[in-house]
Amino acid sequence: MTEQTPVNTQTAVKALPDAQTVTEVTHWTDRLFSFRCTRPASLRFRSGEFVMIGLMGDPDPKTGKQKPLLRAYSIASPSWDDELEFYSIKVQDGPLTSKLQHIQPGEQIILRPKPVGTLVHDALLPGKRLWFFATGTGFAPFASLLRDPQTFEDYEQVIITHTCRDVAELEYGRRLVEHIRTDEMMGELLGQENLGKLTYYPTTTREESLRMGRITTLLEDGTLFADLGIDGMSPDTDRAMVCGSLGLNTDLKAILESFGLEEGANSDPKHYVVEKAFVG
Ligand SMILES: Cc1cc2nc3c(=O)[nH]c(=O)nc-3n(C[C@H](O)[C@H](O)[C@H](O)COP(=O)(O)OP(=O)(O)OC[C@H]3O[C@@H](n4cnc5c(N)ncnc54)[C@H](O)[C@@H]3O)c2cc1C
Repeated sequence: MTEQTPVNTQTAVKALPDAQTVTEVTHWTDRLFSFRCTRPASLRFRSGEFVMIGLMGDPDPKTGKQKPLLRAYSIASPSWDDELEFYSIKVQDGPLTSKLQHIQPGEQIILRPKPVGTLVHDALLPGKRLWFFATGTGFAPFASLLRDPQTFEDYEQVIITHTCRDVAELEYGRRLVEHIRTDEMMGELLGQENLGKLTYYPTTTREESLRMGRITTLLEDGTLFADLGIDGMSPDTDRAMVCGSLGLNTDLKAILESFGLEEGANSDPKHYVVEKAFVG
């Protein structure tokens, strides 16, 4: 079950530096929530990029001064959206998310409007099939890219894999894919004829579900390709974006390179790109 609270943004008062007003909060599990906020009129970003967001920290016991407590967050909304969306972990003793998880509509967050990142179309050479590999909150940049028309214009097939421990942790991604497939406005925007290009491949590592296992194992033992009817990957056709823990990213890089794919960057587009979903 999820809870949602909308708000009238007209009543919000700007007080923080780079303040934006939260408009909606959804709690997905006791470890995950998403929220939407106002978007600075001047903020331009490429779908898949991240920004620094946060709250004011506790007052210094001596001086009473407060400093912003900021963390990197992928923008989960697409670049055309009027608002911004974020998908967040709740770390119980985490300096930021122990507070951020209690944010309410009408309250403010700090948002530094300097988007950066490697999970962008510009960092990949043209290809036929685009793979998004996500674990946990690593789904966030792909929530943005999956709602970007360019993703479907540039590729013949788009595959998103999402791996979490439990089924409930897949819900944000599952709902988003369902929304893309069924919402009239999304169909118009992405092209109704393009929706068949999208394949969603969720897996769990702990709770029993239809597809279980780490995505690295499912790639290495061929299960993923067998399930999708695909003969492996090739630098001629396949492009990939990866967003997970450091360990997952390292393992996936090795697998992608075993197929001959090379890592790209904004300044040097190639076959795949990687970004950490978190540090530590
Ligand atoms: C490029 C980049 C993009 C990021 N995008 C997002 C995002 O879209 N959503 C998001 O929730 N976080 C994201 N993060 C992580 C985020 O910056 C913070 O680490 C997170 O919000 C927790 O902050 P904190 O101050 O509560 O705890 P921190 O002190 O930052 O983290 C404490 C510990 O919690 C664990 N942890 C932190 N973040 C996560 C996570 N997302 N999933 C699982 N474990 C985690 C790690 O073990 C970490 O050492 C991103 C990080 C990077 C580098």
